[in-house]
Amino acid sequence: MSIVITIDGKEETVEKGEFLLTVLRRMGKRVPALCYHPALKKPVGACRLCAVEIQTGDKPAKIQRACIAKTRPEMRVITEGDEIRAAQSRAMNALLTYAPQSKALFKLATEFGLDTQPPPDGCIRCHLCYRVCADLVGASALKLEHREGRPYIVPIPGHCIGCGTCANICPTDAIKVLDHDNVRTISIRDEIIGQHPLERCEGCGKLYATPKFLTHIEQRTLPVHPDVKEHHNYCPTCAKLFSNRVRRLS
Ligand code: SF4
Repeated sequence: MSIVITIDGKEETVEKGEFLLTVLRRMGKRVPALCYHPALKKPVGACRLCAVEIQTGDKPAKIQRACIAKTRPEMRVITEGDEIRAAQSRAMNALLTYAPQSKALFKLATEFGLDTQPPPDGCIRCHLCYRVCADLVGASALKLEHREGRPYIVPIPGHCIGCGTCANICPTDAIKVLDHDNVRTISIRDEIIGQHPLERCEGCGKLYATPKFLTHIEQRTLPVHPDVKEHHNYCPTCAKLFSNRVRRLS
């Protein structure tokens, strides 16, 4: 039996009891779906991506899966809107927990403008690292960047001075500092934030800081503390011993 339903404000003649997604696809409507296949007769609604808003008669409108909803008289369907997008995004994120590396899922999410949650890369997006680097260190070597709709902490090339403050403040150890063969490497995921040679302390010979860090501190503190340059040739332990000795002699 033919009935008339409304889809995005337009009347459409359909067969009563047809699966709604079949109708929407026939009309050329863009609705995401991964578990639907026209060759298989009975849809199951497993991926939940095909959320649309359905209202029947004067009943309240509800977000439902188009693949398993059947056409019925007085049906009004809306396929786009904030709530629909939010439901589709929730479905996408649920799928991403099973397949976090799936390029196909990201592609589909981008295609349909769905929000995807941060990937499980150890970073909880607390923002402490880039705030401390900008506000306290003054290097502004990190930023939050969206890649394929997902937020990532990423380096700003050439800005890092190798102080390691971001790694110290990181609550999940997502940022690593590796001192190896006189070289300090600061990284997040497989991206290098900064790579610097290490200076030796003139007191004890220990590798203790990067030249960029020492220059940075010198430039920031020299106008107020003219003796700071001298102290920076020493690691914190030797600098303390040196200061105490100077204080005793004066
Ligand atoms: S190590 Fe580099 S990125 Fe981290 S706080 Fe220091 S300057 Fe910023």
